[in-house]
Amino acid sequence: MAFTNLLLSVFAIYHFLSTVGLPLHNHHLSLDSSDILSVSSDFGAMTHSPPLAVLRPSSALSIASLILSSFTSPIPFTVSARGHGHSINGQAQTSDGVVVAMMTSSTSPVDVSPENLYVDVWGGRLWIEVLEETLKFGLAPKSWTDYLYLTVGGTLSNAGISGQAFNYGPQISNVYELDVVTGKGEILTCSEEENSELFHGVLGGLGQFGIITRARIALEPAPQRVRWIRVLYSNFTDFTRDQEKLISLQGSPSSDKFDYVEGFVIVDEGLINNWRSSFFSPSNPVKLHSLGTNNGGVLYCLEMTKNYAKSTAHVIDQEVEELLKKLNYIPATEFTSDLPYIDFLDRVHKAELKMRAKNLWDVPHPWLNLFVPGSRIAEFDRGVFRGILGHNTSGPILIYPMNKNKWDERTSVVTPKEEVFYLVAFLRSALDSGDETQMLDHLSRQNDEILRFCDEAGIKAKQYLPHYKTQEEWKVHFGDKWENSLRGRESLIQRVYLAQAKKSFSSQT
Ligand code: FAD
Repeated sequence: MAFTNLLLSVFAIYHFLSTVGLPLHNHHLSLDSSDILSVSSDFGAMTHSPPLAVLRPSSALSIASLILSSFTSPIPFTVSARGHGHSINGQAQTSDGVVVAMMTSSTSPVDVSPENLYVDVWGGRLWIEVLEETLKFGLAPKSWTDYLYLTVGGTLSNAGISGQAFNYGPQISNVYELDVVTGKGEILTCSEEENSELFHGVLGGLGQFGIITRARIALEPAPQRVRWIRVLYSNFTDFTRDQEKLISLQGSPSSDKFDYVEGFVIVDEGLINNWRSSFFSPSNPVKLHSLGTNNGGVLYCLEMTKNYAKSTAHVIDQEVEELLKKLNYIPATEFTSDLPYIDFLDRVHKAELKMRAKNLWDVPHPWLNLFVPGSRIAEFDRGVFRGILGHNTSGPILIYPMNKNKWDERTSVVTPKEEVFYLVAFLRSALDSGDETQMLDHLSRQNDEILRFCDEAGIKAKQYLPHYKTQEEWKVHFGDKWENSLRGRESLIQRVYLAQAKKSFSSQT
């Protein structure tokens, strides 16, 4: 941004303060360098971008006045909502405006309605806080992410997926209503029935179509315990056939299906006990060589859970056994664990604490998340897991299928045009010394190579948690949605683009 524009933006921010006639602290707008530093980076640790100021909102109203002052200013400044900052590529940052630090309104209520089976929650609340509160009523949200230290607004701006998605859809399919501050500085309630275009625009909308201040999320009676099972495959076709068989049971009675289906790829023996798969060890040590893999050493792990209440504990063994009989995994590679529901949902946090203790959490994370069409997943396996990766991935690789019928096409999120598509997530951590193949440059180049491979093979994968540098790339990403949906919402959404012009897909329109 040109220096003069930067100065004008600073002026606009001060103008905002003087118009409302209140001192800085009353508006929770901080220019303090430590506040600015705290929102300048993210989990990816690859983008450092200090904003001009940080708003710690006390309510939706303070966000609305901030955005209104930008909207009405001759030189609008940009506004970026930040949840827990667990993005990878600076998606919650802005260098020429104000970051709204949503997590700072932590006194905001989490209101559970046990009669109506929903919870109303401030957009900056963490999912772990939502879970702890709803469990007091014996209730829980239905659809999750693997990690709960993410905010409600942050995951709803993407999709929010985990192994429950085949059954319930992503988190954005489990929201009844939102309060949103639009790019014009209005506070609007939206749902399927009311302001529905805004509702669908914001869900999966990458923080571009408004700031979610309240979400009404669907609840169900919470299970008490979880039977957690992992089985291994050396044959990719058997593995994906079984995964797809399990998700095709989505409409079956709950006794006849699993509640969660995920999986991961093991291309590196060292990773069999990685931070996402720790229960293989030490009581269940796996010797990869003993499994007789003749597949270039690549193994696939199918991961499933069955939820239950203590009162039905007597039937759980039998139900699990019946389901496992339908699968075609390597005999005697079952690994089972049984734990309270909250411990299962919060499993990645336990791994986080271990990684933090070894100083391995706050490192660069060149993650790549892709939605790959089901019909091309075998080609992806050959080209990437057994090709480009070699034997070193620097982190877990998740792979699991989802069914498009659980996703609402009217939302802003983009998925492949096939009924079954896979999430493939390369969750890498880069080291700053030692083996060159574990360093940031190498891993970033490998990500580019994977994307190039998909392009050249015409695989039509879509990025999840996308990040692009040019508007052309965004247009390709959105496909039909760019013209039909995003542009079609212009009267409402174009305004938001202007106010939140931090992303390349909006700033160049
Ligand atoms: P931020 O990174 O702060 O923000 C993300 C985006 O949302 C930005 O564009 C921001 O501007 C926007 N935004 C934030 N708050 C709001 C709001 N209130 N209103 C409007 N826009 C807003 N994702 C999954 O789907 N499934 C997983 O299992 C999963 N596991 C993860 C595990 C780890 C360890 C990490 C680091 C990430 C994981 N993610 C997962 C990705 C995660 O869901 C996204 O990165 C999410 O955006 C992070 O939430 P956040 O609160 O940190 O959002």
